[in-house]
Amino acid sequence: MIGIVIVSHSKQLAAGVRELAAQMVSGDVAIAVAAGIDDPDNPLGTDAMQVYQAIESVYSDDGVIVLMDLGSALLSAEMALEFLSETQREKIYLCEAPLVEGAIAATIAAASGNSIEQVIAEARGALTAKAEQLGIDVITDRSLSLLNPRHVRDFDSSKSNNQPLTDSHTAQIQLTVSNRLGLHARPAARFVTTAAKFHAQIQVRNVTRNTDFVRADSINQVATLGVRQGHEIAIAATGIDAEAALAALQELVANNFGENDSDLIPPVIAASETVEGELLGIPASSGVAIAPVFQYRLTSVQVEEYIVEDTASEWQRLQTAIQTATQDLQSLQANQLGDEAEIFTAHLLVLQDPALLEPVRQRIFSHHQNAEFAWKSTIDELAHNFDTLEDAYLQERANDITDVGQRVLRSLCGITTPIIELTQPSIVVATDLTPSDTAQLDTTKVLGICTTRGSATSHTAILARSLGIPAVVGVPAAILHLANGTLLAIDGASGRVWLEPDTDTITTLQAKREAKLQAQHHAQATAHQPAITRDGKRITIAANIGSVADAKIAIKNGAEGVGLLRTEFLYLNRTTAPTEEEQFAVYQAIAEVLDRRALIVRTLDIGGDKPLQYLGLHAESNPFLGKRGIRFCLENQDIFKTQLRAILRASYGHQIKIMFPMIATVQEVQAAKALLVQVQTQLRQANIPFDETMQVGIMVEIPSAVAIADQLATEVNFFSIGTNDLSQYIMAADRTNSQVAMLADALHPAVLRSISQTVQAAHSSGIWVGLCGELAADPVAIPILVGLGLDELSLNPQAIPMVKHAISELNAVEAEAIAQRALTLNSAQGVRALVSALINHQAELH
Ligand code: PEP
Ligand code: MG
Repeated sequence: MIGIVIVSHSKQLAAGVRELAAQMVSGDVAIAVAAGIDDPDNPLGTDAMQVYQAIESVYSDDGVIVLMDLGSALLSAEMALEFLSETQREKIYLCEAPLVEGAIAATIAAASGNSIEQVIAEARGALTAKAEQLGIDVITDRSLSLLNPRHVRDFDSSKSNNQPLTDSHTAQIQLTVSNRLGLHARPAARFVTTAAKFHAQIQVRNVTRNTDFVRADSINQVATLGVRQGHEIAIAATGIDAEAALAALQELVANNFGENDSDLIPPVIAASETVEGELLGIPASSGVAIAPVFQYRLTSVQVEEYIVEDTASEWQRLQTAIQTATQDLQSLQANQLGDEAEIFTAHLLVLQDPALLEPVRQRIFSHHQNAEFAWKSTIDELAHNFDTLEDAYLQERANDITDVGQRVLRSLCGITTPIIELTQPSIVVATDLTPSDTAQLDTTKVLGICTTRGSATSHTAILARSLGIPAVVGVPAAILHLANGTLLAIDGASGRVWLEPDTDTITTLQAKREAKLQAQHHAQATAHQPAITRDGKRITIAANIGSVADAKIAIKNGAEGVGLLRTEFLYLNRTTAPTEEEQFAVYQAIAEVLDRRALIVRTLDIGGDKPLQYLGLHAESNPFLGKRGIRFCLENQDIFKTQLRAILRASYGHQIKIMFPMIATVQEVQAAKALLVQVQTQLRQANIPFDETMQVGIMVEIPSAVAIADQLATEVNFFSIGTNDLSQYIMAADRTNSQVAMLADALHPAVLRSISQTVQAAHSSGIWVGLCGELAADPVAIPILVGLGLDELSLNPQAIPMVKHAISELNAVEAEAIAQRALTLNSAQGVRALVSALINHQAELH
C-alpha cells in the first residue's frame, strides 16, 4: 500500500491534515506524521530523524509520497532520505503539492488503489478544482516533475543529480555574472527567491566550471555552483511562464542582483584614517573576535642562481636541509591530533616525493644549479600547477607546497623558522598563513585570523578550527592596508569583518561571543555530570591514562573512572623490569587518586611498536603480528605473575579490574586466568588480602576475537574494544605507517560492523562492553558509538567534557538509526559525511 507522510513545522497542523485526509477514506490509507521538534520552548520545527521514522512506518515497495509545508521541512525530508537504503530511497517521492489539498487528493487516490505516479499526479493537481471555482487559471503543466521526481541524492555526491530539462518547451539563456563576489550568499538568495516566484521549473548551471544543472529554487544547490565574477551561467526553464521567469532572472543578473559593489569595497584605507565598513570573506573557523589588527607578512626567502662545481656536496646540503625540515614537521605533527596531524603528514610526504626530488636533482647534477635555486624553482613550478587548477581544494594545496618549500629554503639559508610574536591580544591579518605559522600561534594572544587568500578547506582554516581560533579567509585585500592597532571585529561563522566597528556592533558581537564561550564553559562545568542522552540513556565516560599525573587530570575533567591504564609506561626507559613493590606502589597510588571510581589495569602490552631489549624482545620482521601483549606474557610467566601479584594486592579496598590485551583465542584467556588463579591462591596462602570479586576482562582488538566474541564472552566479565589495533588488523594497515593511515580509519564500516558484532555478542551473554581506542574521542564517532550500544567510552582526559556534552545533546533512538545507516555505507568518508550532515542540519535547526 502506498504510504503518505506529512511533514510540518507544527504538530497540530500535521495532525489536523492527517485527520482531514483520513476522514475522506475512512482510515484505509497509511498516513504518518513528522512534525514539530522536541523543544518545549520552541516546538515549531522539523527534524530529519522524525521524517525518516515516519517514512519507515508507512514504507512499502508500492512507494511513499512525502508532502511538506515549507522551508526546513523540505530540508529535513531531503535529509531523511539519506538514512534510508538505496533501494528504499528509490521508492520515496518528495512532492511539492500544497500540503492540505495535496494530502487529501493523495489519500483519496491511494485509497482507490492507484499507482504512485497517479497518486503524485493527483496531489499536484490538487489546486485545480479550487482554482476553477475561483475562476483562476492555474498552471498544471508539471509533467516534467513526474519524470524527474526529486527523491534521490547520492550521499557522497555533492552535485545534484538533477536531469537537465529536455522538454521541447524548455527555453534557455546564457548570461555572464559580473557582480564582484558572484553568486555568493546574498545574490544567490535573490536568484532563488526570484526563480521561486514562477510556476516554471527552472534549473541553472555554471558553464564556466562545467557543472551539472541544479535546481534554481535551492539555495544550497545554487551556492554549490561556485559562480564567481565573470562566470557564464545557463538558465533553463520549462512551463507556462518560462519566458517571463527567464526575463526576470536576466534582469536580476544584469542589475548585479541588486548589489552595489561599491558597498563591498571599502574606500582605499589610509593607514591612520578612521574607517567604517564591513567586508565579507569566507567563514573558516567559527567564533567572534574583537581586537586590534596585527599585520603579519611572511617574507618569502629570495634566492639567487649561481653555478656549483661540487654537485655532490650541493645535493648533500639539500638533503641536510630536508632532514631538518622533516624533523621540524615531525615535531609539529606530534603536537596535533587526527586530521590536523595529517596536514603535516602530507607535508612530510611532499619532502619524500620523487616527482619533486628528481627535477631538483637534475637541476643540481646536470645544470650545476645551486641547491636553493634548484629547489625553489621546482617548488614554484609545482605550486603553480596546483594554483591553476579549477578545483578550490586542489588550489589550496599550492599553499602547502609553498609552505614546505619555504621551510626547506629557510633551513638551506640558515634562517630560523619565524614565529608570530605578539605583544598584545590581536587579530592577525595576512595574505595567507601557512599551516606551520598557524600551528605555532600562541592561542592566548591570537584572538582571530583574517586572510585575503585561502578557503574553508585550506589547512590554515582546518588548523584554526582545531585551535579554536575564529577565522575569516578570502577577505578583500583592503584589509591589508589597515594600520597595526586598528580595531577589527570578525565573525568566523558568517565570514563578516567589521573595520572599526561601532558600539552597537561591538555589543551584538560581544553577546554572540559570550554565548559561545558559555557553551564551552557549560561543557567544562557539566563535565562532572553523568553523560545521559536526551532520552535518558547513560554512557559511562572513563579515561585512558598512563600515570598518576594523568589520573589527576582525568578526575579534574570529569572521568567516572579509568577504562584503560596502560602499564607499559612502568617498563619503559629502564634496563630491568619493575619490581612487584614498585608496581604495587603505582597501582595503589592511582587507585587512591580515583577514590571509589573503577580502575581497569591492563596487563603488559609490550611488543609491536614498543620493543624492550631487556625483556628479551628482539626485532621481528612483522612486530605487530609477532610476540606482543598476552603472547609475550604467557611465555614469560615470571614477569607476568609479578605484575598480577602487584595488581591483586592493589585491588584490596579499591575498585580495580584486570584486563588482558591482544587476545586472539579462548585458550589465551583461559591460560591467563589460570595464572591469575595461581597467584590468587599463593596470596591467600600468604594471608595477603586482595579483592576476591575483582572483575576480569579482555581487549577485543584482533579480528579473531570479534569473530569468536560469543565464546570469549563466556570467559570474562567485560570487553573493551581497542579500535586502534582492531582497525589496523582489519584493514591490514600498520597504525604507525602514515602512508596507509587513511585506510586504518576506525570509522570504516568494516570496523564499525566489528564493533557492532562485539557489542551484540557481549550483551547476549550479559556482560558489559566499553571502547578505549582513539575513536572514542572523535566527535564524529560519538553518535555512532552511542547508537551501536556501547556501555562505556574511555578516552584521553582532555576530550572528556566535549564527549559528555555531545552525548547529552543526542537522542539514543536517533543515534541508533544513524549507526545502523553507517553500517550500510561503504567508506569511512561516507560515514563522516553522514554524521557531519546531521550535525550541520541540527545546528541549522537551533
Ligand atoms: C587500542 O588498540 O585501541 C588500544 C586502546 O590499545 P593501544 O593503543 O594501547 O594498543
Ligand atoms: Mg591495542
